[in-house]
Amino acid sequence: MTAQAQSLTRPITFNAARFEPVPFKVYTQRDFDQIVPLAKLSEAQRFEMKVVSSVLPFRVNQYVIDELIDWDNIPADPMFQLTFPQRGMLAPEHFDRIATLLEHGADKKDVDAAVDAVRHELNPHPADQMEMNMPRDEHGNRLEGIQHKYRETVLFFPSQGQTCHSYCTFCFRWAQFVGDKELRIASSEAETLHAYLRHHCEVTDLLFTGGDPMVMKTRHLRDYLEPLLKPEFDHIQTIRIGTKALTFWPHRFLGADDADELIALLERLTEAGKHVALMTHFNHWKELDTEATQAAVRRLRKAGVVIRGQGPLIAHLNDDPDVWARMWKTQVRLGILPYYMFVERDTGARNYFEVPLVRAWEIYRDAMQQVSGLGRTARGPSMSASPGKVEIQGVTEVAGEKVFVLRFIQGRNPDWVQRPFFAKFDPQATWFDHLKPAFGDEKWFWEDEYEAIRDDKLSIES
Ligand code: SF4
Repeated sequence: MTAQAQSLTRPITFNAARFEPVPFKVYTQRDFDQIVPLAKLSEAQRFEMKVVSSVLPFRVNQYVIDELIDWDNIPADPMFQLTFPQRGMLAPEHFDRIATLLEHGADKKDVDAAVDAVRHELNPHPADQMEMNMPRDEHGNRLEGIQHKYRETVLFFPSQGQTCHSYCTFCFRWAQFVGDKELRIASSEAETLHAYLRHHCEVTDLLFTGGDPMVMKTRHLRDYLEPLLKPEFDHIQTIRIGTKALTFWPHRFLGADDADELIALLERLTEAGKHVALMTHFNHWKELDTEATQAAVRRLRKAGVVIRGQGPLIAHLNDDPDVWARMWKTQVRLGILPYYMFVERDTGARNYFEVPLVRAWEIYRDAMQQVSGLGRTARGPSMSASPGKVEIQGVTEVAGEKVFVLRFIQGRNPDWVQRPFFAKFDPQATWFDHLKPAFGDEKWFWEDEYEAIRDDKLSIES
């Protein structure tokens, strides 16, 4: 039997006794030397990791080291690429600047200053997150920790959830993890959130995000979520929780101290009629292949939680249609709904991870052709740009011109949604702002309106 066939047919069992509490052991940049299997790498390779992780966040835990990474296949192993820094993640001039300082034992304050300068050159807040998405209260004060970009959906960043069980090397929220307060978007105020939702009855969906809200203790999650059962929050129909815990720490749902309370809380919400959706981040079928992850999925589904799978397309990790097809097939078998293939965002180590848009579309199409109808629920490739979520629908020729066919899945103005529009074909383009309108048009159909919305928001800021 092939490895693929084995993975797709492994029986899913949940035996609580098998998932006794497991200690959570984490390693950060200071602990490279304690990660035993890294001894397989040369000293020069380990130094490169230290350089890169001075700029970009690094955090990994024992479960990832033991269960996910194939140490006989490093550095190419996709789970290694997912979690461990690689030299190519920094531009050569950035790498050399920091490496020289470290090699010469420079003062901490000089290293910190250089690191800070490099970080600010890496577009820490893509898509105008800071300027355009943060709402204000009736007195004009910015509501920290809340983003309200699309009419029906509010994003909430609980301050206790602004870290993750491990960090993804390509994370577009990397800026939140490097300890720069200016770059953080977080709130500890449950009351701020509830007051905002009380006054915004147009909001139906609340998305808890981070970091990873599943790093929070259940008692903190309860403070935020339980009040939503009151009748005044009947308009909040869906509670989405963005998480990669099913990959990085599935024991959160199994043997962790307060796992049973967490499952009970989620069950209470679903039984009261809320749609609780776990927006799980997956990049590769390997993440779904462990016994603990499969048991956690089963436990969550029994509690009535709907699990959706989404993740970006990343060079060195999953830029292969067979990886996506196998991941979507496995998700369907486990009862996870394939939801999105994203394009890697224009921030951080994008030069290392990005894939040309045309290639992204080819990979999506090829993967789609390999799965049944139930696997074809994944949308994409999709870019979360400032005007909205833009999907690449295809490449074609119209009146002799080669074009990308695009549509808004979400837009700052709901009227833009689902209207097809066209960009000049560009084989090098890797992000939305590389594209130009097709047919000699000077502007996108939505551009004037978007500029007006932008001016409006930015004038409130200044
Ligand atoms: S789990 Fe999500 S927020 Fe956390 S590091 Fe990965 S991509 Fe970033």
